[in-house]
Amino acid sequence: MRNQGIGSWPRRRARMTPKKVALTCDGRDFTYAELAERVDRLANALRGLGVRRGDRVAYLGANHNSLAETLFALGLLGAVFVPLNHRLTAPELQYILEDSGAELLVCGRSHRHMAEQLKVKRTVVDDEGGEYEKLIASGAPEPIDEEVSLGDLCLIMYTSGTTGRPKGAMLSHGNLTWNTYNLMVDVDLTSSEVTLISAPLFHIAALAQTLLPTLIKGGRSILEASFDVDRTYDLIESERVTIMFGVPAMFNFIAQSPRWETADLSSLRNLLCGGAPVPEPLIRRYQERGLTFLQGYGMTETSPGALFLSAEDSVRKAGTAGVPCFFTDVRVVTADGRDAAPGEPGEVIVQGPNVMLGYWNRPEATAEALRDGWFHSGDIAIKDEEGYARIADRLKDMIISGGENIYPAEVEEVLYGHPAVAECAVIGVPDERWGEVGKAIVVLRPGMSATAEEIIKFFDGRLARYKIPKHVEFVDALPRNGSGKILKHVLRERHG
Ligand code: AMP
Repeated sequence: MRNQGIGSWPRRRARMTPKKVALTCDGRDFTYAELAERVDRLANALRGLGVRRGDRVAYLGANHNSLAETLFALGLLGAVFVPLNHRLTAPELQYILEDSGAELLVCGRSHRHMAEQLKVKRTVVDDEGGEYEKLIASGAPEPIDEEVSLGDLCLIMYTSGTTGRPKGAMLSHGNLTWNTYNLMVDVDLTSSEVTLISAPLFHIAALAQTLLPTLIKGGRSILEASFDVDRTYDLIESERVTIMFGVPAMFNFIAQSPRWETADLSSLRNLLCGGAPVPEPLIRRYQERGLTFLQGYGMTETSPGALFLSAEDSVRKAGTAGVPCFFTDVRVVTADGRDAAPGEPGEVIVQGPNVMLGYWNRPEATAEALRDGWFHSGDIAIKDEEGYARIADRLKDMIISGGENIYPAEVEEVLYGHPAVAECAVIGVPDERWGEVGKAIVVLRPGMSATAEEIIKFFDGRLARYKIPKHVEFVDALPRNGSGKILKHVLRERHG
């Protein structure tokens, strides 16, 4: 095969374990042989629609086999997968479609209504009418022998930015491959793995920390359209799930369920948690039940694994994010660029084969993030004497709510459009359910009035719901430094 990219993985795996089940979705099992054939057919059909090497194709929808198949089929063609966060509003999605230049949109049945509101050259809907299934059936089953190498662009994943607008992190086939190796070093995956994927696959963690590693080993992934606590318990018990990735909020919901005490969780070999700060009491709760609860730290730009706390250390070093992944180097550096001493805070910077190629069409943002070959994360960590890093804070102005990142700049930009708002700033405040939620601090224009409810209502249809602040507070003025910059840390102290 001239294809070294991840698009070739279903076919490579089908050579080894054709009859094993690769994916379970909506109660339907797909063996590796079936998956490989569907991916080949889809690739040929997409080529028939004019998709060529380098072209961007977006996917909108909940976790589904069509998402995985589109990713792999595009990988066979050397084309680029652009997964969309289906929680975004139409204007937010339109922006990403235009920024990425995607001319084709593949849409899951759950999001047909949203797709109808988007302007894109062509849409293929995986609906009851079978448009997507017909497309697959129309493609020839012959493998496509396009040359794809590890350095080629595989996907563009949008993450919000401090400047307000989302940026597309460009991940190569090699980035995703090396991240898979990193994970396989840290977690002893086997071919009998059953992984439950209910975190969204448009996010790098579910895709690269669970789906790809399971597939390379020949295990089975159960794709769930959304996370539901009871359904999670049902599946763990009935399907004997061995691995699950989740953000802290998900593991929190599971531990708080009345089923926690009595459920049979004996099949679970590894729980992987990351994407947001993981509270130590939550980790202990799982460990006290005899479960292996592993924490990892990473981000979209590093595909995502940077630090990992493996099973051997998971109790002794609980609460830290561990040490660098095997093929990746991580330093904690002070503002003047030297390595921070143990106990001293510094910024996490990352180097390695899993670090992104750059941001799509954003040379300045790329140069800012990738300096001297190191990706600057904007996160603050403190290493202990043994080199285990604890994520302590963030340099970047960001809120993480239930695992979703919210960039205050984007929320503030919308809020400045409200006729009664003179000035505003959005900060994160602690929240028991979601970890953090947004709070808008607002200065009203003289003579104008607005209530907190009106402010919150204003965001409807303008921003995805998870980004909308849950609290609003009105003040007379915002604290600023000498050069006029809003002092967010002062706001956090006063209003957090
Ligand atoms: P994303 O690009 O959406 O994966 O978000 C990445 C960001 O999530 C990082 O830059 C961190 O701020 C945060 N993050 C990820 N994992 C952890 C963790 N284990 N502990 C604390 N923060 C984390």
